[in-house]
Amino acid sequence: MNEYFRNIYKTVRTILIGMKITLKYHFAKTITLQYPDVAPALQPRYRGFHYFEIEKCIACDQCAKACPVDCIYIEKSGPRKIDKESGVARGGALQRYAIDYSKCMFCALCCEPCPTECIHMGNIHDLSGYDRESMIVEFTELAKEGLQTPQPLWMQRAGLPKWAEERKREWIERGEPLRAEMMRALEESKAGK
Ligand code: SF4
Ligand code: SF4
Repeated sequence: MNEYFRNIYKTVRTILIGMKITLKYHFAKTITLQYPDVAPALQPRYRGFHYFEIEKCIACDQCAKACPVDCIYIEKSGPRKIDKESGVARGGALQRYAIDYSKCMFCALCCEPCPTECIHMGNIHDLSGYDRESMIVEFTELAKEGLQTPQPLWMQRAGLPKWAEERKREWIERGEPLRAEMMRALEESKAGK
């Protein structure tokens, strides 16, 4: 009998706790953020669209195997390994590294097993497109432009808000010094060369 009343008490109590939180948000002041004029407030550990250091990728497929929805596509012409002197990968060409963002659920499970720590969750939360195909980001194609991460369509136009200009500059400055190495990742090369 005691157990019966204890269960009723617990049920009512947990419902009240849940309702208290709901009511708190119900009466909270709502704020409309004028995105994209105002930057979104992203937390430091935010899991946005990836950024990829192609020059460090050894095409080992560990990220693709860890992905629960099989949305990472990797093609290479031969084995690749890190050259100890230069710290970048050499060997077969990385012919394709792509992620299908129509399937990706931003779980970051692909980043954990990467032996060279070259795939990361980035700070972009917005990637629009006109069809499903445009949701497949070809990181090997981005590398040809010196980019490690995709840019939303609207950010490719002129007259951006200040925060977006700064974010864009940050991406370009990160990739630009590595551009030659990024291009080499797309071609066959030998260790030490
Ligand atoms: S974040 Fe998750 S779903 Fe997306 S590519 Fe990585 S492992 Fe796959
Ligand atoms: S990103 Fe990392 S885990 Fe994925 S293929 Fe390249 S080296 Fe391997």
